[in-house]
Amino acid sequence: MPPSRRQASLSQLGEFQLIQSISRGFSRGGIRPTVGIGDDAAVLELPSPTQIVISTDLMIEHIHFNRTTSTFYDIGYKAAAVNLSDIAAMGATPTSILVAIALPPHLNHQDWKELYRGLAVPCKAQKVQLIGGDTSSSPSVLFIAITILGRIKPGQSLTRSGAKAGDIIYVSGTLGDSAAGLEYLHHQKHPVKVSTLLQPIKFLVRRHLQPTPRIGLGQMLSTHGFASAALDLSDGLSGDLTHLCRQSRVGALIHHSHIPLSTHMVTYAAQKNMPPLTWALHGGEDYELLFTVPPTYRRRLEQAVKTLRLPITAIGVVQPRRVGIRIEDSDGSIHPLLPRSYEHFST
Ligand code: ADP
Ligand code: MG
Repeated sequence: MPPSRRQASLSQLGEFQLIQSISRGFSRGGIRPTVGIGDDAAVLELPSPTQIVISTDLMIEHIHFNRTTSTFYDIGYKAAAVNLSDIAAMGATPTSILVAIALPPHLNHQDWKELYRGLAVPCKAQKVQLIGGDTSSSPSVLFIAITILGRIKPGQSLTRSGAKAGDIIYVSGTLGDSAAGLEYLHHQKHPVKVSTLLQPIKFLVRRHLQPTPRIGLGQMLSTHGFASAALDLSDGLSGDLTHLCRQSRVGALIHHSHIPLSTHMVTYAAQKNMPPLTWALHGGEDYELLFTVPPTYRRRLEQAVKTLRLPITAIGVVQPRRVGIRIEDSDGSIHPLLPRSYEHFST
């Protein structure tokens, strides 16, 4: 696109050298581009047989992140991590990312560097290479749009639509930590440095600002063919289970007492006089995987997952669509589970 008053090219902004030096901080693994950063587009040589899995996410200041609760490092870190999580949810191996940013006035080179330093950390951990992007000035807030590419063997990708009545519903890790961390951050006037915090806050804030994409678990589910459906938990269990059930045309029953909670979250919820289950069910942004598994695979799955050092928990069972999505309380009573998660365009 030709530069205009609205769209400045990277060279015009004088940032090209900066991007080139930053891109060296990213891994050279994944799929090597035949043409990388610096040309009009990147070119990738794919090993055969490979399918490409692609996802994109737009993050806008004041909507998806806030500079009062996140440093530039945190913003970059999380932007990369949530995109990697989408690839994890498909069971694929992430390989390459493109990063488009619109920079508000007064952002300096140090801020950029910090943003890309954060971006590089979860990418490096997964050998994901930066292969391009776009840069513009923004009249107001910071925008970051990331496109991520992954690879998978044909036919192995995990979708939201394959769950069948009788399948077991699992989640990885613990739920509600991110919402608890966010609750703490909301009461701070300035971004906090995670490393300086004390437990249980440190754990919870890290879970919010620096979620771990569950790439290894996704790959295990897809390569062994264990999961009939999967997605990553961004909207909260109630919202994301609704997405899975709608797309698979099924219902579900989950058990209150089976939902995995961290002791740090339970401790903090008690301090705040909050029911921990509210964060776990509706909080969102845990970036754990929610997946369904036919009962015949249960033993093999639970054996295979031992190598990952990531707990998974069976929280319920897929049921016929007509019963809806329900939760059994600790007293044995059964109620509908209604999504109460945050949606950007709901009023
Ligand atoms: P164009 O005018 O074709 O958009 P640019 O000057 O914006 O070209 O970009 C030059 C090169 O730098 C391209 O390879 C592009 O992919 C890369 N690039 C631009 N902005 C970014 C960015 N924010 N992050 C990573 N790569 C970028
Ligand atoms: Mg450009």
